[in-house]
Amino acid sequence: MSEFRYCKLAKEWTLFAPERLKRPKDLNNKKDIYLGEIIHDKCPFDLEREEFTPHEIARVSQDGKWKCRVVPNLYNALSIDIPFQSTRDSFFEKSSGFGAHEVVIETPNHDKQIWNYDFNDLINYFTILQSRVINLKNDDRLAYLSIFKNQGEDAGASMSHSHSQIMGLPFLPKKIKENVEYQKEYFETHNRALFDDILYEELNYEKNIIAQNSEFVLYCPYASQFAFEVKIVSKKKLASLSEFNKSDLSALCDITKEYFSKFYAALGDISFNMIINNAPYKDYDVNTKNYFRFNIEIKPRIYKEAGFEQNTDININVILPETAAKIYKESR
Ligand SMILES: [Zn+2]
Repeated sequence: MSEFRYCKLAKEWTLFAPERLKRPKDLNNKKDIYLGEIIHDKCPFDLEREEFTPHEIARVSQDGKWKCRVVPNLYNALSIDIPFQSTRDSFFEKSSGFGAHEVVIETPNHDKQIWNYDFNDLINYFTILQSRVINLKNDDRLAYLSIFKNQGEDAGASMSHSHSQIMGLPFLPKKIKENVEYQKEYFETHNRALFDDILYEELNYEKNIIAQNSEFVLYCPYASQFAFEVKIVSKKKLASLSEFNKSDLSALCDITKEYFSKFYAALGDISFNMIINNAPYKDYDVNTKNYFRFNIEIKPRIYKEAGFEQNTDININVILPETAAKIYKESR
């Protein structure tokens, strides 16, 4: 059973999840190892290996076969079946590990990575994510969904089969809460969304823009924290995947496909984290789209964070965004 413990010094929770220790590792397509013991010869995310995952939550099928599935994380750090309870622990405070923890198996093909996806693969992926954002919103115990993809060992992935994760939390992480409040205040002062102003200035500045279509801009942020970091940001007033219509999804797939073909041409098979930022469930209403923009962050893990970064939260980036954008633009 996992639990959150509150750090009074950092004013933030830590999630303790001992179950995660038992996760299998199959990177480099080696046999799955379960604390040194072989459990499967084959990957549990493959076609016709469905019995090795917990009961299915959602799927996208074509021609009678699944193309994308969502299942509970077998090595879950959070559990949806327990109540969210906060308790005093003498001077300290802890909470039960309530929350959602799901795995999105993006493709039945073990060897297909995101840079190999065609338009149809990406439509399936974003459609199933959209269905989870809409469905989990009905659980009013959840305040926030963290949707992310860890690709490669340096990004924290333990399985090579292409997948993403969804974690639903009963509270807003401090970083998210502060950022959303800041964007709200910006809107109240300027009557414009902060992201709209950033996009306007980045488009004027031009050097960091890699590509754009009618609905999205792909660029290396002016103050990128990571080498070759990019953002994909909605130009329209969209705050969450739940608001996307078919043509929004289609434009998102186009720009994502364009990015990952450039990513692979420029950087090859390297580790990265992809974070899909939707407006939090907490306080979400018709006004949210005034100040919050749906966006995707992709952070390649080329250089490791070290002591200075951990001490100060200031990243040292050895590649200027205009250099990274130029390399991306020339890569195809
Ligand atoms: Zn597989």
